[in-house]
Amino acid sequence: MENIDNREPITVTSPLLPPLDEFEKYLEDIWQRKWITNNGHYHHLLEQALCEYLGVEYISLFTNGTLPLITALQALRITGEVITTPYSFVATTHSIWWNGLKPVFVDIDPATGNIDPAKIEAAITPRTSAIMPVHVYGNPCDTERIRTIADRYGLKVIYDAAHAFGVRVNGRSVLEAGDISTLSFHATKTYNTIEGGALICHSAEMKQRIDHLKNFGFESETEVVAPGINAKMDEVRAAYGLVGLKYIDRAIEARRRVAERYRRELAGVEGISMFEPRPDVTYNYSYFPIFVDAERFGCTRDELYGRMKADGVLSRRYFYPLISAFSPYNTYESAAESNLPVATRMADQVLCLPLHHRLTDSDVERVLSFIK
Ligand SMILES: *Cc1c(COP(=O)(O)O)cnc(C)c1O
Repeated sequence: MENIDNREPITVTSPLLPPLDEFEKYLEDIWQRKWITNNGHYHHLLEQALCEYLGVEYISLFTNGTLPLITALQALRITGEVITTPYSFVATTHSIWWNGLKPVFVDIDPATGNIDPAKIEAAITPRTSAIMPVHVYGNPCDTERIRTIADRYGLKVIYDAAHAFGVRVNGRSVLEAGDISTLSFHATKTYNTIEGGALICHSAEMKQRIDHLKNFGFESETEVVAPGINAKMDEVRAAYGLVGLKYIDRAIEARRRVAERYRRELAGVEGISMFEPRPDVTYNYSYFPIFVDAERFGCTRDELYGRMKADGVLSRRYFYPLISAFSPYNTYESAAESNLPVATRMADQVLCLPLHHRLTDSDVERVLSFIK
């Protein structure tokens, strides 16, 4: 019999760490160059490498994944109200608040967890100037329908693509959609630079504006063209990101194998449901959410979560509570549960299972043993 107390906990995620000896060579070079931040050699190389890897034309690196959201709203000069989803990480809505704008929550589509395009129009007012959807778990939003609505009302679209690193639809990057998309390279994400992020836009002029904004608004040594912020990525993390990029495909492949095993083994388990994958989407397997219907499954999501945790299996209730339920936002009219029935149910049922590149077959079996 295995000694339960000696077993390592199984974490929901584990950072993709570049091999130390390889990273050290980059560090030595940075030390030689004596240039450690402010648009350096590795900053430039990582922007180029990511453009190629992701299949996009313009990318700006950031020091985390929240500042590109805040900067995107500035760059597009958004005013008034921004339509968004309550089913995300709090940074999505916080970025709206930090710009002095009003978030307006719209319910989600039960098939994807993303903002429901059919419910967007009813939330548009004369003060609305943008839509900020999230490709939650890396599930692509219905970008064409969102664009049609945005065009009809003259709205900008900013995608929080923090979960969608490398995700493609019919072979094309999901980051091509909208006016701007943003990524997070936080340690918990599929691809990481410890802390980090990026902004993807679609013109050289916009990239230049973004690059000014992330560097205090400096255009030259003596000219400031906008009230910018400091959101730059340094050389050490850019180099870390370059090494990590060599290993990302292997990590995603390892995640895919775990996700497909979960899917196979949980299909048909009474009271457990999962999202249906789309054949035209290349996923990054960043999360594996399951939905627990307490009546049919025989215990609640929180009971299952608690049992797993007590035995060292750390799943996460992403995204519970809803952003709209937190005190800065819960007094908005659009935050009412009656406006968000699908999101409310999903938040009550969701459990994201451990999913990362280091999970072994026996780890996966241990996770599954709680559910089957
Ligand atoms: C992680 C995350 C962010 C914030 O990224 P940081 O790099 O942690 O600042 C924003 N939006 C979503 C949906 C996220 O999951």
